[in-house]
Amino acid sequence: MFDTIRPGLFRLEIPLPGNPLKAVNSYVFKAPDRNLIVDTGMNRPECLEAMMNGLRELDIDLSKTDLFITHMHADHSGLISHLATETSRVFCSQADADIINSKDNWRPMLLFANRSGFPHDEEAIRQHPGFKYGVREIIDFTIVKDGDTINIGEYTFQCISTPGHTPGHVCLYEPNQKILLSGDHILGKITPNISLFADDRNPLDEYLQSLDKTYALEVEQVLPAHRQIFTDCRGRINQLREHHNRRAAAILNVLEKGPQNAFEIASQLKWDLSYEHWDQFPISQKWFATGEVIAHLKYLEALGKVKHNQSSYEIKYYLTA
Ligand SMILES: [Zn+2]
Repeated sequence: MFDTIRPGLFRLEIPLPGNPLKAVNSYVFKAPDRNLIVDTGMNRPECLEAMMNGLRELDIDLSKTDLFITHMHADHSGLISHLATETSRVFCSQADADIINSKDNWRPMLLFANRSGFPHDEEAIRQHPGFKYGVREIIDFTIVKDGDTINIGEYTFQCISTPGHTPGHVCLYEPNQKILLSGDHILGKITPNISLFADDRNPLDEYLQSLDKTYALEVEQVLPAHRQIFTDCRGRINQLREHHNRRAAAILNVLEKGPQNAFEIASQLKWDLSYEHWDQFPISQKWFATGEVIAHLKYLEALGKVKHNQSSYEIKYYLTA
């Protein structure tokens, strides 16, 4: 099953069973000389089957097809090695290509999560889609940088580097047609997860800057990697900025009670999930929530509003004023 978006541009909805995201959109460009698939679905049989059925219906010859990976997450990159042929270029940013190929990011993240109050529970990793359904092989990527162009048939895309959701997230922008393939940088109904399990980056700051960059583009149609296509790009960007301001304010509010670790803070915030209580959240959702709180704490720390203790194992944040 495919949707026709524009001439030569199709959408395949690849299911993600059991995942709150429900599905990922794969965009397929079909041109006489070379085709392009943007994002792939996870490395699991349900995704592969849906992808192969869609490509068959569209009569796509994989030996004449390149892949573009907006970012390293498993629902976008998982099927690379099933789809790439000997002649395929697999476009990705250097930062996210490095993460896909490094294969051992989990230990340091788990340690940092534990220092942030997250229970010592390897199940959080074993249940993590990135661990279960990621790319197993080392991929020979074709690295794209901000401003690079990719031609497919009538379309000339600009690579727009939009770090935040991941360190190397890239959107594709077509200035003549005014369409933006936004990956997970801007989604219509879902707030992209901005999270951190390390001490050396400020992904929320990067993300907000990436939103400013995207805001400046003339966009008439946003083609996101999840859920529906939509038109009001700037309106949605304003909502996303608002969301992060509100969350940052809520975290400051929780910290009024005194120093706390990120896990404790996360348990007191309101999350857009169908569970009534924090205790009912699956461990994977607690993981994402804790990571999002750490990202906001880092952002607030750079603004001088909070600080964290430097000496002990457990990392606690407190208000500066
Ligand atoms: Zn993602």
